[in-house]
Amino acid sequence: MEFLDLSRYEYSDFPLEMRAVGWLGREHGLQSGDPHADSRLILKELKASSVREASLTLGFHDCAFCPPGARVRGNGEFRYHTLSGNSYAAPVMILHYVEAHGYVPSQVFIEELRAGRELPWDHRAQRLMEVLFDENAELGMRCQAIVDLPRWRDPRALNALKWAMRHEDLADVASDQIGISLGEMILSGLDVGVDSEDLGYGVNYGIAQVIPGWKWAGDA
Ligand SMILES: [Zn+2]
Repeated sequence: MEFLDLSRYEYSDFPLEMRAVGWLGREHGLQSGDPHADSRLILKELKASSVREASLTLGFHDCAFCPPGARVRGNGEFRYHTLSGNSYAAPVMILHYVEAHGYVPSQVFIEELRAGRELPWDHRAQRLMEVLFDENAELGMRCQAIVDLPRWRDPRALNALKWAMRHEDLADVASDQIGISLGEMILSGLDVGVDSEDLGYGVNYGIAQVIPGWKWAGDA
């Protein structure tokens, strides 16, 4: 799948409007922005902001710029919610494009990443929370909300995740993702107030993915 940088993201359904970054292919090539940009610095910044692989069911993308037979491919995407109020989606391959092919994402996007990652609660977080709570919303959309809510280090996001943990359908399909999200909130320093003994297998398993040494019955 190929999109022009900063065009409207339309690859999969997501509760928020997003712009595309790094969806490169043969038609538009490397689409690079500033040819004088320091791609090592950009890679470092991009890695720091690429915190969680999401939408792993999207299917694989093969790199169009590696020699035939190299079989460099990636599955899933990174999402970036910036302080400016914009949200972006990139294939996980974006890191490979920068590292191996010198791709330079749009300056606008890079500058928004540089502005910082501490997001105050905003309309996007509110929307994600509403979708998560909405019993009529598609289960897939509600799971997307579970994945992205921890970007807002806020008790409202935490309470929504704890609610989801006790929701039969959500816990059934996304308990590990709920656990990863809780783990991310623990890592960010928020007082999550959960005890592994009170959590199910999936949630504990998810937390343990993020927090090495998380003590729970399944780690023996
Ligand atoms: Zn490549």
